[in-house]
Amino acid sequence: MKAVVNTRHGGPETLEYRDLADPEPGPGEVLIAVRAAGVNRLDLLQRRGPGVLPGFSLPHIPGMDISGDIVATGPGVEGRRLGDRVVVNPAVACGHCQECRIGQDAYCADVQIIGGNRPGGYAELVAVPATHTHVLPPGTAHIAAAALPTAYGMAWQALVVRGELRADETVLVHGGGSGVSMAAVHIARRIGARVIVSSSTDEKSAHMATVGAHATINNRREDVAARARELNHGVGVDLVLDHVGPALFQASLHSLRLRGRLVFCGDTSGTTAAFHLPHAFHCGITLLGAGSCGYADFGAMIDFCFGDGSGIEGELEPIVDTLLPLSEAAVAHHRMESGQTMGKVVLLPGAALPRPVKQRTTQGSRAPQSDAAQSSKGPSGKASAAHPADQAPAPAPRPSSAKPRTGTAVVSSVSDVSTASAVSAGSSVSAGSSRVSTRS
Ligand SMILES: [Zn+2]
Repeated sequence: MKAVVNTRHGGPETLEYRDLADPEPGPGEVLIAVRAAGVNRLDLLQRRGPGVLPGFSLPHIPGMDISGDIVATGPGVEGRRLGDRVVVNPAVACGHCQECRIGQDAYCADVQIIGGNRPGGYAELVAVPATHTHVLPPGTAHIAAAALPTAYGMAWQALVVRGELRADETVLVHGGGSGVSMAAVHIARRIGARVIVSSSTDEKSAHMATVGAHATINNRREDVAARARELNHGVGVDLVLDHVGPALFQASLHSLRLRGRLVFCGDTSGTTAAFHLPHAFHCGITLLGAGSCGYADFGAMIDFCFGDGSGIEGELEPIVDTLLPLSEAAVAHHRMESGQTMGKVVLLPGAALPRPVKQRTTQGSRAPQSDAAQSSKGPSGKASAAHPADQAPAPAPRPSSAKPRTGTAVVSSVSDVSTASAVSAGSSVSAGSSRVSTRS
């Protein structure tokens, strides 16, 4: 298979696109032909080094956000079959620690992260535990699904599981322009809550307004707490989602109404926050930490976003900034590091194209990959129709002399995959971002 490998720490140029032996699914695992793989900040941080997850080692295949088709199953797999179109929960709990035994796998002390400290989705094939796959509703595009696991998982855990956001509440979300902030706006709006977003630039604020924010704050120019209170009848907001850390922690606390909740889930501005204790306890503030999504919560999040395939109204549509072929992973990292992305950067492996593979493994069964995008039946027995995005054309190779692209692909529908291909080929494309339709 083709894969992108970190063999040493450094810049994007250290990502090597190379041939590797196909992985084989072990006991309880399924082999997935990756159709789309989202790029995350952790991919960049671990590529640069030296800060890496415990258990990380080189060489490493990044990629935590994976959507694809099951093309082989290892021994002992139940509830998944060849051809299932699935999205992967990257947090793999150990299954036998105290937390796992009581169903609190989100707090597993020995959790592994697919694409973090075990092989990920920057590849044509990846083997993952069958229990950590979630079958997509019919018609859901792999590209849209690959935009969800990390960003929407974090926002879901923060807003819903820990923050318990309600329809009659107002939430303040920091970090406008980030994947988590967009996910939070989508989820909060779908709940029925009112959303205020703080961003570092007016451009990001304007973009968040188009994503669905009811109001925006420029956190570089405005007094965030004063403005948040002003925007909510002078009493402050019910919930703050802070994935920025110390830079806005004080502002977060003072943006809250009496007995408000501050849910924090990131440390991009540092790992240590100082705050005024008397304000926090006099106002009855609740501090809530939010980590990764457990298996059950992940499934609930996917169902919430894409529905059960019965055509519920207002399907959630992730924002995709750029589509690139897997071979252009370095360009994707350049784009992320530019700080200009407005939405998800998604890689499309060559496995999205039909290719011959072995028919069977020694222990499990394997389907021809060319069949994987055809209609099939999931565990529920529902037809799983292939989405047009799953037959994305092969992205044209970018001439080696071409400079990394600085524009942004306008991806207004899955049929615009070719637009992103043109971008990767060095063509000029207007800046901006849009939605990928999740329905055929
Ligand atoms: Zn565990």
